[in-house]
Amino acid sequence: MISDLRRSAVPFLLAAVMAATLPAVACRGSHPSGTDATAAAQSNTQSSAQRPEPRPEDFDPTPATPAAIKLSGEKAFATLKEFVQLGPRYLGSPGHAKAEQYILSHLEGAQIEQDQFNVVTAAGPFAMNNIIAKFPGKKDGIIVLAGHYDTNLPLKDTTFIGANDGGSDVGLLLEIANHLRQHPPEGYSIWLVFTDGEEATITWTDADSVYGAKHLAHRWQQDGTASRVKAFLLLDMIGDKDLHFEHEAYSTPWLYEVVRRAGSRLHLDAHFNDRYAPIQDDHLPFRDVGIPVVDLIDLDYGFDNLYHHTTQDTPDKCSAQSLQITADVVAETLRALNTR
Ligand code: ZN
Repeated sequence: MISDLRRSAVPFLLAAVMAATLPAVACRGSHPSGTDATAAAQSNTQSSAQRPEPRPEDFDPTPATPAAIKLSGEKAFATLKEFVQLGPRYLGSPGHAKAEQYILSHLEGAQIEQDQFNVVTAAGPFAMNNIIAKFPGKKDGIIVLAGHYDTNLPLKDTTFIGANDGGSDVGLLLEIANHLRQHPPEGYSIWLVFTDGEEATITWTDADSVYGAKHLAHRWQQDGTASRVKAFLLLDMIGDKDLHFEHEAYSTPWLYEVVRRAGSRLHLDAHFNDRYAPIQDDHLPFRDVGIPVVDLIDLDYGFDNLYHHTTQDTPDKCSAQSLQITADVVAETLRALNTR
């Protein structure tokens, strides 16, 4: 993913400070013509017009609401570590093929769909594969939990393994699969989506990024799935030892509030930094086809995001505790979404 703040001419720290103090105005100031936070908010309003806008408080659980599912941050972290031992997972690499097999072998008991396709990227043609694990529920509608598993092609000649970037989300999604295998959803169906080709193959642009998400969102628009998806939660960079979620600005406002209120009920406010940050990521193509989306992301990984997209993105920079925090927020959000 890429932060629109980072692409600005304003130094990142200054932008971050300004965003923290004067969210929309500061972002507008640093992006006179680009896709800034204000534009994100405006287009959020436009896209939300396609569906009636629920009120976040309508999702607050009542005493009658069933308890949240219990997920293990320890198990998610163990899976993260095992997964990244497969090595770099850039497009076309042996590690990428191993990663696909690893994910598939850990999804036994789920209905599996592989969205396999070929695409000519900025760096040439590649085969890609979005892996979807479906756990049918009892209510009509789908909640999607998603994350990417590829690593960066431009870093192919390094030891980059993306422990947080691509590893943390896979670890947690597979832990959720473990749970759902034994405890099928009582409410909406839950689909776990492991996207491919999230990373840029040369340099991040609208065209050279989120290849898998674009392919799947288009398919879901064509086959009618998009209208059945109640919520799409993207998990990205959620393993950082020092975990602070952004208020990601392209996220659908009511759905972000549902997540944020879930965090407050769990007394996890300290892990939401409330920085209004527009970040381009896998959620955008799904948002573009009218699906309510949230990008649950911490894009401050190491001082000034130092570990991001470097060989320092290793498991020792992540923790089971951070994965537990994310897992609890996801579980409480699922609980909330199922109140309606
Ligand atoms: Zn990345």
